[in-house]
Amino acid sequence: MTIKENLQQIEANIKETCRRVHRDPNEIKIIAVTKYVSIVTAQKAIDAGIQHIGENRDKGLLEKREALQGPIVWHFIGTLQSRKVKNIIDKVDFIHSLDRLSLAEEINKRAKRNIQCFVQVNASNEQTKHGLSVEETVPFIQKLAEFPNITVVGLMTMAPFTDDEEVIRNTFRKVKQLQKDVQALNLPYAPCNELSMGMSNDYIIAIEEGSTMIRIGTSLVGKEI
Ligand SMILES: *Cc1c(COP(=O)(O)O)cnc(C)c1O
Repeated sequence: MTIKENLQQIEANIKETCRRVHRDPNEIKIIAVTKYVSIVTAQKAIDAGIQHIGENRDKGLLEKREALQGPIVWHFIGTLQSRKVKNIIDKVDFIHSLDRLSLAEEINKRAKRNIQCFVQVNASNEQTKHGLSVEETVPFIQKLAEFPNITVVGLMTMAPFTDDEEVIRNTFRKVKQLQKDVQALNLPYAPCNELSMGMSNDYIIAIEEGSTMIRIGTSLVGKEI
């Protein structure tokens, strides 16, 4: 299948899922994750109608950003080392992986404008995953009050690596509930209207559970590198 066909399939799945769960499909944005593909392939996704690009390394983001043509919204979706913040801070529209105060401090210090961040939650408590536990998330967001250049636009999570749909669904549900808890605080710097959850294998479940940004790599642009 071509990228255009893959995109049409994903859009059809979004529509059908939204119809079933009574959501507006316009609430859901597709981030094309291009970390496994060349610039040429990433450009094909943009030409097919993609507006959001996600990368998980500073190098990949800078390379793609130099080369790709089009109106593009840039997402940094990977683990972010504090020393790399200065490389990407002026080049991204969203950071999806805010998970510690030292990182918040560095983002706040390097930012020349307000930075839209997702707080990353490790809702399944898998050792291998980054992110805050469910219990840590609200206290962490409250502490972000001291960083005027950071806005918490939402929460981001990755589901555990499993075939068990109920386990995946449960993870997304916990993060949706957490979003409501954060919104109830009415913090001006943390509107938390977005949920970045769902990848190639689980985006339909994520949409059923309230995702507003799905991060799709393999099933949209494939895997080349
Ligand atoms: C690679 C990656 C994705 C995309 O994964 P696919 O399974 O290829 O769709 C999404 N989110 C993050 C954080 C990633 O690192």
